[in-house]
Amino acid sequence: MKRTTIRPENAHQAALLRLLRDGGRSRAELGDVVDLSRSKLNVELDRLIELGLAEPDGLAASRGGRRSGRVRIARDIRFAGIDIGATSIDVAVTNGELEVLGHLSEPCDIKEGPGVVLDRAIELLGKLSRDGLFTDLSGAGIGVPGPVSFAEGVPVVPPIMPGWDRYPVRETVGQALCCPTVVDNDVNIMALGELHAGLARHVEDFLLVKIGTGIGCGIVVGGKIYRGVSGSAGDIGHIRVDDLGPVCSCGNSGCLEAYFGGAALAREAVAVARSGGSPYLAERLAVAGTLTAEDVAAAAAQGDAGAIGLIRDGGRRVGQVLASLVSFFNPGLVIIAGGVAKLGHVLLAEIRSVVYRRSLPLATGNLPIVLSELGDTAGVIGATRLISDHVYSDHVYSGN
Ligand SMILES: [Zn+2]
Repeated sequence: MKRTTIRPENAHQAALLRLLRDGGRSRAELGDVVDLSRSKLNVELDRLIELGLAEPDGLAASRGGRRSGRVRIARDIRFAGIDIGATSIDVAVTNGELEVLGHLSEPCDIKEGPGVVLDRAIELLGKLSRDGLFTDLSGAGIGVPGPVSFAEGVPVVPPIMPGWDRYPVRETVGQALCCPTVVDNDVNIMALGELHAGLARHVEDFLLVKIGTGIGCGIVVGGKIYRGVSGSAGDIGHIRVDDLGPVCSCGNSGCLEAYFGGAALAREAVAVARSGGSPYLAERLAVAGTLTAEDVAAAAAQGDAGAIGLIRDGGRRVGQVLASLVSFFNPGLVIIAGGVAKLGHVLLAEIRSVVYRRSLPLATGNLPIVLSELGDTAGVIGATRLISDHVYSDHVYSGN
């Protein structure tokens, strides 16, 4: 049906591909950064060109002697990224350097189950194929909003994904797209997106806190995702912030997520509207019959005191948890992302003030805390980054 995805033959070729993923360069420049003799380097590059993984790209400007030939990732390589959220699907197709060539997004309820949701994702990719963006894929990466056994490519007891427990997501999508496929938690792929194309481009150790329907944290150590022993590292939404707090979707009480996930914020917003604490939210509630995080953001932008109070309370709780994480992990950067992060500068200011006040100066002295600038593309770019790590590697791959 399709050619088998071609992979590098050894660790040198794999390392060269991962360098070229960040953009084409001259043989001389590659020679400066890899630990290979000039002749061995040329042998490996010529082999990558022969395999169809790389291609020549003209001559570089002279550095004093003969002009060095430029090499780049083959122009026809394509990866697919699928980012499945609790309420939306994003799919994108990138080239071999992970530049987005096409991106589609639509609302989708994760509760409809894996059959419906994965079919829809594959259909959206089919649309991009019909638009001429690809015929064959070298690989696909998928993010889902729950805990994932990375080795098996299946979600494991995901609290907000009924019907998905141990569903063979990797196998299903891999068979439909006829290419190697990997599955990870959506927060991890967002962190990889920031590492590849966002604010974390030059940061090796950082945290990405996603505040959406759920709350989670992507942990990047030495430029790689840290998943922990079973894949649940960074599941900070269920850290208890108050013994007497509200009941959470996980069955415990007082979890961070039960205070400030999307559902919790909507619930609090309704309470504030009904108590007369916010004329703006009361009016929205009367019209729509329900409130969302977007309504809170809109109210806060109008200077509504009730809405700003809700954001400050939530930001303070996130800040409390984050201050502990910063003391423990000493990251070089913290990125706040996800739907609720669209609450913007009021949220960021509150989180910053708690973290800077509570963590030790040595940990926070050089610690920027910022809002993601990639928005909805972080997940899909990260998903392609994840699968490209596999395809641009010489390790034997256990997936399909
Ligand atoms: Zn919980």
